[in-house]
Amino acid sequence: MRHSEAYRGRLAPSPTGLLHLGHAKTFWTAQQRARQNGGDLILRNEDLDQARCKSEFVAAMLEDLRWFEFRWNEGPDVGGKFGPYNQSERMDFYRRALEKLHEGNFVYACTCSRRDIQVAASAPHAEDDEPVYPGTCRSNRVSEITNQRSNLRFRVTDGETISFGDENLGGQKFIAGKDFGDFVVWRHDDVPAYQLACVVDDAAMQITEVVRGADLLVSTARQVLLYRALGLTPPRFFHCELLCDDHGRRLAKRHDSLSLSRLREQGKSPEDLRRNW
Ligand code: GLU
Repeated sequence: MRHSEAYRGRLAPSPTGLLHLGHAKTFWTAQQRARQNGGDLILRNEDLDQARCKSEFVAAMLEDLRWFEFRWNEGPDVGGKFGPYNQSERMDFYRRALEKLHEGNFVYACTCSRRDIQVAASAPHAEDDEPVYPGTCRSNRVSEITNQRSNLRFRVTDGETISFGDENLGGQKFIAGKDFGDFVVWRHDDVPAYQLACVVDDAAMQITEVVRGADLLVSTARQVLLYRALGLTPPRFFHCELLCDDHGRRLAKRHDSLSLSRLREQGKSPEDLRRNW
């Protein structure tokens, strides 16, 4: 671990809808941890899924973040030496990583058609997480990764325990093949999956601590395997408890009433909104 290095944290929203109070709370923790550690905060726009990401949401995201008093040192609007900060402009980084996975024989072509494959470019939050893949295509060889028309999956070792320490929630343990299976790293329509893009960028941007919601703990286990396969050192992880609505459901972008824009229109101030945290 890199405890002696300067702290670098990040905010990594996807412009697929309006930011809500749940995002703000997790991001606020990320900002506070960066400040407490005298470090930098990086804003990364996770806009890989062109079908779901919209430019009006990028504009709204920047406005909402600024209104809520987030300040970042590097990002799509201010630049920085680890740019570009829009994932859609970082395809070369992802392709190089995919080549490395291919050379190490970590990936195979999967021709199964499933809904989870369509959604693989987005982070799988809790109820959206994919079912454990049964391994139907596991023995497929990939001769060429360019012009690939199949989804490419990362092969896990069934029964392997993936452990990591979480700075907030303590020791974590997941079992490959049981808690998650072979996962998509590249979609058939030439879009890198969230899991791969996130690891490649957190490493390339020299992020020392990833702060995100606890619903992504299983994704972290997958990502630990990608760090290892790519020969990269994982950052530290700090997973935050999630904000739930009155019915105990995780706040999601569909809860429009709790979007930051709506709350602002209603005359709420960021201080009011942070008061009960
Ligand atoms: N763009 C992802 C999301 O919105 C980022 C997840 C992460 O922080 O790794 O959930």
